Amino acid sequence: MVSPLTGFPPDKIKRLVIKIGSALLVAQDGTIRTEWLKGVIEDIAARHAAGQQIIVVSSGAIALGARRLGLPKGGRGSLDDAQAAAAVGQIALSHHWAGLLREKGLNAAQMLVTLDDLEHRRRYLNAAATLERLLSLGVVPVINENDSVATAEIRFGDNDRLAARIGQAARADAVALLSDVDGLYTANPHVDPGAELVREVKRIDAHIAAMADSGSGSGMGSGGMASKIEAARIATGAGAHLAILSGKPERPLSAWARGQGGTIFLARTGQRARKTWLAGRLVVKGRIIIDKGAEEALLKGNSLLPAGVTEVGGSFARGDVVDIIGPEGRAIARGLAEYDAGEAIRIAGMRKADIAELLGNPVRPALIHRDHMVML
Ligand code: GLU
Repeated sequence: MVSPLTGFPPDKIKRLVIKIGSALLVAQDGTIRTEWLKGVIEDIAARHAAGQQIIVVSSGAIALGARRLGLPKGGRGSLDDAQAAAAVGQIALSHHWAGLLREKGLNAAQMLVTLDDLEHRRRYLNAAATLERLLSLGVVPVINENDSVATAEIRFGDNDRLAARIGQAARADAVALLSDVDGLYTANPHVDPGAELVREVKRIDAHIAAMADSGSGSGMGSGGMASKIEAARIATGAGAHLAILSGKPERPLSAWARGQGGTIFLARTGQRARKTWLAGRLVVKGRIIIDKGAEEALLKGNSLLPAGVTEVGGSFARGDVVDIIGPEGRAIARGLAEYDAGEAIRIAGMRKADIAELLGNPVRPALIHRDHMVML
């Protein structure tokens, strides 16, 4: 049977990231759902034998550790609890993955990463090089956030976005988010009987974002639909397809190959590596609001000049990532600022000659240069 996920046949994917949510891995009584996990690993082994490269992003450390330690609120009551739960849960989780993969003749590799590791370009490139080497050695990387050291400021917080960033770093062809929801619905299916599953998304626009806001996710796990859409934005911008699929079937990857439904976000092409890294950055230090004329100039491929800026917000230094907001209030681009926030406020709306008079020569003509900007 042909997969309804047109343009994204699962057996044609060379390099795939599979994210597995906590609710799938950890049962209500706090034990690992070993039989289900064995099914997933059967699928991974079959894919591996067929020449596909698989990276796993596995959640479940906090849920597992919390149950073992008897911590309230699933270990998410405080940062201390979450860190302790993750430290206890992660070792058990890795042990399970490594043991079950080994039974199928596969080596597992553990990588624990923080947001910081993927936000700084040098560390991002290091992580990318490690993944590349592991895959070339036929190893299955099993990745999670390094929750036991990640503080609130440096946490991803959900593995959906982590999986998308890993997909980007590994130059994966696709990212599959397996969770307890079947995909994106037009409205909340628990409330609205007319809600329909969206099969394919070519572009993530305000309409799609609104569907996620309508609470169409199950509300379980730390991610929810909003973080899945954010993950889709990162992955598709980096040239990878992203699928939201139900992980409830016994062998979810086989079910997918047989044509089980889900939502597929199709990859966008044409972004260079540095730009995709930029688009996937999660920490944005400021906002630059621009007028209609500047928006048109950006859409034509030009740099952002101070003349088109109407407002500057946030506190950023030269080289920090800032969002460019169009006159309708939507972030339309992102880039590295050529000026710090104080200077940007002073030169907003000004032409080059006036800037030279104010700040002295030489003047950097663009507030954000085209080469350091990506359209969203
Ligand atoms: N990193 C968390 C864990 O392993 C999961 C985050 C999420 O729920 O996406 O428990």
